[in-house]
Amino acid sequence: MNSSQLHSVLLHTCCGPCLTHVYSVLTSQFDVHVFFYNPNISPQSEYKRRLSEVVKFSQQHSIPVTIGQYNQKEWFNVVKPYRFYGELSPRCHACYAFRLEETFKVARKKNFNAVCTTLTVSPYKDAQKINEIGSKLSKVYDITYIPSDFKAHGGYQHSIELSKQYGMYRQQYCGCVYSKLERKKSSLWFKRVEEFNNTNKTINK
Ligand code: SF4
Repeated sequence: MNSSQLHSVLLHTCCGPCLTHVYSVLTSQFDVHVFFYNPNISPQSEYKRRLSEVVKFSQQHSIPVTIGQYNQKEWFNVVKPYRFYGELSPRCHACYAFRLEETFKVARKKNFNAVCTTLTVSPYKDAQKINEIGSKLSKVYDITYIPSDFKAHGGYQHSIELSKQYGMYRQQYCGCVYSKLERKKSSLWFKRVEEFNNTNKTINK
């Protein structure tokens, strides 16, 4: 399917700031439907805060929104084996896949033509891996995946500018409890992650 045949896109949305830029890119070509599915976000108060920014922006722009389940337990079960790996590791790959797979399931159920994600706005996420996962799921669910690197060409900067313009809350960590702990380089958790990775590097030499 080429882009001229595409019509409706289910946009997996991680947060309001990322949505601002991605929506500005997609809106002229597609009917965008936001899907907020992020059971990775901890604590729940943070989840609600990010969700509320997404809902507010969507209402301001008359974008339909579907809110996925906050099924944290299932998310933890999937990423737990990789919890000590740190950011940009198999832990994050499992997290991307978990959220994207649910997006494809909902897209199939609701007859969307395509799936896309705001995740590639962040310079702290692996766009290549995200697109690899999206392309694999596209074959499984027989729904087009729109690959992206939304941070490119000033996209990330644009998301910052737009979110300031809208007076949006901008989070200081990726989302999960691990990423929150890893922000503090002096934390015991950070040291544990460092130790784990150093040991693994030594074993794999
Ligand atoms: S750091 Fe971000 S992408 Fe990685 S597991 Fe945590 S929430 Fe998911």
